[in-house]
Amino acid sequence: MGLLDKQFNSGGVIITKVDDLLNWARLSSMFPMTFGLACCAIEFMTTGAAAYDMERFGMAPRASPRQADVMIVSGTVTFKMADRIRRLYEQMSEPRYVVSMGSCSNCGGPYWEHGYHVVKGVDRIIPVDVYVPGCPPRPEALIGGFMKLHEKIKNETLMAPTALEELMDKEADAV
Ligand code: SF4
Repeated sequence: MGLLDKQFNSGGVIITKVDDLLNWARLSSMFPMTFGLACCAIEFMTTGAAAYDMERFGMAPRASPRQADVMIVSGTVTFKMADRIRRLYEQMSEPRYVVSMGSCSNCGGPYWEHGYHVVKGVDRIIPVDVYVPGCPPRPEALIGGFMKLHEKIKNETLMAPTALEELMDKEADAV
């Protein structure tokens, strides 16, 4: 519930910040792209099945990058796939997020030393918001990654900064 906890007074009125309301709505309805690269994708699929049911966190998979705002990179990122991954990422709507799932995606995993065909971390081709360790990570770990992503989104702002805030940022950078 988070945002709505203890917010209602006796008249049924809720008072909150616009940012908090927008962020609560966004993190409650995220759309991961159905996309898998290797063995980690099996655990991703398990996370979506009945036992773990990731839709209870508002994560409803979409088959098209145009409708998705979360990419879960689940598996080995080969150089052959790297261009495709970047293109899929660029086709996603903004604001968009990336969860790197498993050692292969995080740093090359078992292929980090001798895997001539493997990119040593998907963050070399697209920005990553959350890293989930493991080979493969269990569904609980991936759900933990979703929770971290929710925390990040909670602290974001979609509102344009005011002139005063921009000035304060500039002064802070100058110090
Ligand atoms: S991290 Fe392990 S389980 Fe995941 S894709 Fe790589 S080898 Fe497979």
